[in-house]
Amino acid sequence: MAKASDTCTFCGRSGRDVKLLINGINGAICDECAARAYDIVKEQLGATKSTFDLDQNDLPKPEDIKAFLDQYVIGQDDAKRCLAVSVYNHYKRLLQDKTDDEVEIEKSNIIMVGPTGTGKTLLARSIAKLLHVPFTIVDATVLTQAGYVGEDIESILTRLLQAADYDVEAAERGIVFIDEIDKIARKGDNPSITRDVSGEGVQQGLLKLLEGSVVNVPPQGGRKHPEQKMIPVNTKNILFICGGAFDGIEKKIAQRLNTRVVGYAANKETAQVDRDNLLKYITPADLKSFGLIPEIIGRLPILTYLNPLDRTALRNILTEPKNSIIKQYVKLFAMDGIELVFDESVYEFIVDKAMEFKLGARGLRSIVEAIMMDAMFTMPSGKDKELHVTLEYAKDKFSKTDINRLQVAG
Ligand code: ADP
Repeated sequence: MAKASDTCTFCGRSGRDVKLLINGINGAICDECAARAYDIVKEQLGATKSTFDLDQNDLPKPEDIKAFLDQYVIGQDDAKRCLAVSVYNHYKRLLQDKTDDEVEIEKSNIIMVGPTGTGKTLLARSIAKLLHVPFTIVDATVLTQAGYVGEDIESILTRLLQAADYDVEAAERGIVFIDEIDKIARKGDNPSITRDVSGEGVQQGLLKLLEGSVVNVPPQGGRKHPEQKMIPVNTKNILFICGGAFDGIEKKIAQRLNTRVVGYAANKETAQVDRDNLLKYITPADLKSFGLIPEIIGRLPILTYLNPLDRTALRNILTEPKNSIIKQYVKLFAMDGIELVFDESVYEFIVDKAMEFKLGARGLRSIVEAIMMDAMFTMPSGKDKELHVTLEYAKDKFSKTDINRLQVAG
């Protein structure tokens, strides 16, 4: 039998000079050498097999992507299909044969328009779970607030670099979701009278990223580290998905539809117009009247919309998604060994209140929280192992809530 070694076989130091000595069959390794060996393994193997390697055979097809999104997001089929196709085509573009110089697949950035709280960010977050490329979500309002200082636009790419663990090549194939893109719209319709430089300035900066160019990115972002060395990042293959509520755009759509229906096709078109959901008729022209510059619109060739959430959608959001609000509360209680059961009428009550106070999907959580607060406070130290939430119970708890405190962030 081999006898335990008292020196590290790698560096030769004695067991007394190191923190830890791990014995093997014919030798030993100290903690420091083990750590170094781990780094070498990571570097060597990590370089050949990156998490961002694409292999056409195991890429999910658009229908698979949509089915995946269905687990987390209720409805919004149009947006899901557009996203699924776009992401799939993005992969294909990355895999395309570079020697074929006849046909080059160009990228198709997306813009999603939909009322706030209908699932735009949720779609982006959900799709991120199955992506094979680095992904980040950035908020366009931050860009507005800081004015039109160029550096801030580049910070979008700082986030992507971070998501890619500073692997520049991987970041250059990534996907960026820009939320609240409508907030950088020019405020006035007529640029020569009301020139809103900050909105337009940000749009011009963004255009450079969307078009595809080499951008110098501060690796740590912001202006707090003036000494940092810029990293050049080529945005040619980065896919941009933009989302925004575009509050009030329905008016522009309605105006356009009305002027058009004066023409000869009037009867056919007016008869079909769904007045409750004008967004589904949105065209790039409406984005222009809202205040996006034509160059930006041209770089976002896929335009899709999200539906407002109706009663049925809200009811389903409560319990159907994999990570639904109700499932989360059941889990919270289960962790204290308490079984939580709801009557169907409670769900209807919660949806009623969300509709009544116009709280939307975001309000569902605050309403459930208001109903459950007492039980969450007292039950963990009590003896009861079951809570059956009846309509009566829910109404009682909810009536004691200050409805003004149920404000939900827009
Ligand atoms: P926005 O469209 O403003 O980006 P979010 O995606 O942030 O809206 O939605 C806010 C919250 O409302 C989500 O976290 C989710 O809990 C819920 N929600 C909204 N729309 C849906 C939907 N279609 N399916 C499931 N949950 C949704």
